[in-house]
Amino acid sequence: MRLQLLGSGGFHPNERRHTACWMIPECRVVFDAGTSAFRIAERLESTELQIFLTHAHLDHIAGLTYLLVPMLDGRLERVQVIANESTLAAVQEHLFSDPVFPVEPGFEFVRLESRKSYPLCDGGVVTWCPLPSHPGGSTGFRIDWPASGEIPAKSVAYITDTFVDGTYDSFVTGVDLLIHECYFDDELGAKWAERTGHSFSTQVADLASRVGAGQLVLVHVNPGRSEADPIGLEAMKARFRATEIGEDLMVLQV
Ligand SMILES: [Zn+2]
Ligand SMILES: [Zn+2]
Repeated sequence: MRLQLLGSGGFHPNERRHTACWMIPECRVVFDAGTSAFRIAERLESTELQIFLTHAHLDHIAGLTYLLVPMLDGRLERVQVIANESTLAAVQEHLFSDPVFPVEPGFEFVRLESRKSYPLCDGGVVTWCPLPSHPGGSTGFRIDWPASGEIPAKSVAYITDTFVDGTYDSFVTGVDLLIHECYFDDELGAKWAERTGHSFSTQVADLASRVGAGQLVLVHVNPGRSEADPIGLEAMKARFRATEIGEDLMVLQV
C-alpha cells in the first residue's frame, strides 16, 4: 500500500514543511487537513474522499477550506469528515462560520464515536483511540489490513499531538509503520513536551522499540527548525534503528 506524507510539520508551515496531512490515494482517505491539504486535489484517484481528523487545532484543519474548489469543479463529489464530536463542532461552528470562511463546501460530517471501526480499501480497518495528554485531546488512528494470498497482514498507526504518556502503547503494538509526531529534540522536550502535550526524540524512539514497531517515521516537527534534522536522528537510531524523519511528499510503503 502506497502512502504519501503531504505535510510533515507542526504548528505552522515553514520553507521546508507544511502542516499535518497524509494520504492513501488508492484508499480515498486522508488523515488530517493542515496547510498541506492544498496538495490533496492533484492526487485524487476518486471523486470520493474520507478525511479523518485527529483534533481541531488549526494546523490540522485549516486545509479543509482548500477543498472548496475541488468540490465546486467536480473533482470531488462526496467528502466525509470523520472526527470526534468536539472536533466536528469546532470545525462547523468556528472554521466554517461566516466571519472566518463563509462557504461550507458540502461535507458530510460523521461522528467518530458512532462506530468503533471504519472499513477501508483492500479489507483495511481503521480503529481509533483517544490521546488525552494534548490540550483539548487528540485522537490516534490505526489501520490494519488482513493477509491476502502471499501478501502478509500489514498495519499503520498515526499518532500526533500527544505526550508519550503510556496510554496508547497497546493500541500501536506490533504496527508495521508508526507515523508519530516528534515536535521537540531532547533538550527542548525535557522542558516543554509534557507541558504542551507534544513528544520528544528519546521517548518516541523508545516507544517504537517497546511496542515492536517495524518502522518509525517522524512528523509534526518543530517549524522553528527548518534544517534536515531538527530532532537528533542519529541518537534516535541508536535507540530504534528504523527511524526516519518525514519530509513533505515522502512516499511510504507498507
Ligand atoms: Zn498540531
Ligand atoms: Zn494540537
